[in-house]
Amino acid sequence: MKHTEWLGGPSRGVTRFGEPARFNEGLYRLGPRAYAWMVPNGSWGETNLGLIDCGGQSVLVDTCWDVRFTQEALDFAADIVQRSPIEFVINTHADGDHCWGNQLFRDKPIIATHACMHQMHHQHPRQLHALKLGGRLMRHVPLAGIDKFGHYMHQMFKPYGFGQVVITDPTEGFSVQKTLTVKGVDIVITEVGPGHTDGDCIVHVPDQRVAYAGDIVFVGVTPVAWSGPVENIVAGLRRLMSLKADVIVPGHGPLATQHDVQRLIDYWDLAQEGLYLRHRQGMSAFEASRDLLFSPAFQRQGFLQWDSPERLLTSACTLYRHWGAKPGRWPGKLGVMDQLRQQAILAFELPMATPGLMHRF
Ligand SMILES: [Zn+2]
Repeated sequence: MKHTEWLGGPSRGVTRFGEPARFNEGLYRLGPRAYAWMVPNGSWGETNLGLIDCGGQSVLVDTCWDVRFTQEALDFAADIVQRSPIEFVINTHADGDHCWGNQLFRDKPIIATHACMHQMHHQHPRQLHALKLGGRLMRHVPLAGIDKFGHYMHQMFKPYGFGQVVITDPTEGFSVQKTLTVKGVDIVITEVGPGHTDGDCIVHVPDQRVAYAGDIVFVGVTPVAWSGPVENIVAGLRRLMSLKADVIVPGHGPLATQHDVQRLIDYWDLAQEGLYLRHRQGMSAFEASRDLLFSPAFQRQGFLQWDSPERLLTSACTLYRHWGAKPGRWPGKLGVMDQLRQQAILAFELPMATPGLMHRF
């Protein structure tokens, strides 16, 4: 990988979930104009941001899951944003951990795919805040895994302050591809969704040889397909590789190489094949995920060591839907909650997995 430099950050040494940090938190220089804000280890809401200094104006790629963490990143980038104020924001997709700091840029153009714009309100800060508080109470209900679900959700949301968040919608939508030119610097934004979510895009700065991949790339962290189809995620990964960027900034985890992107393609190949086989044998999405997680093939690849391996269940439910099978009993939001309840039960079967505090009481 091309030379990159850590410029400073909060240096906490541990992650928001108390794990030893695998890389320095903070601002990195990736090229003369390209920067990233990197958050170890890339677990829930430990989201990376991009910053492109176009000489007098900057472009921010994504914001954080809450206002405080977004402001913290901006404070450490003060030198850059003072000389080149942020005039444009790009949201790579509509998950809260990539756009719930948008309100700090209420008066600026915020760019996203049309599909992302349509999905902006699929989660609400008030619901997550309620789950964070309710989760603490649910821990005392040892019935049908409700205690585990409550613990899992409470720990996931605990580092974040959703109370202040006002969802701030993108103002400029596009489909397929858009080139944003700021002070002569081309920033090419390409739609690759639906896959991880309905409206994923990747951001490429050709003259810096840097790409910001959003959540089609996770490094050392289990990827997830909320929307699918998984084929689109794999096609997006291949497209990303074809850009031949020197540095790839994943949505979560440390800076990525082409090899890391290939590992994700391998993960999705194994997940699709392994789950389909088990689906055909009559296993439920839960049974198939558990069986695949503990299979020699999965362990041989080292995928069980990736953060939050239980996320395979969410991807399994998405794949089952695309295969025409009903992954669960409940429709809509209730179905998502039930899916996360099952994911929490699975997490507790993996007590050595990270983040440790979500996987055991
Ligand atoms: Zn994310």
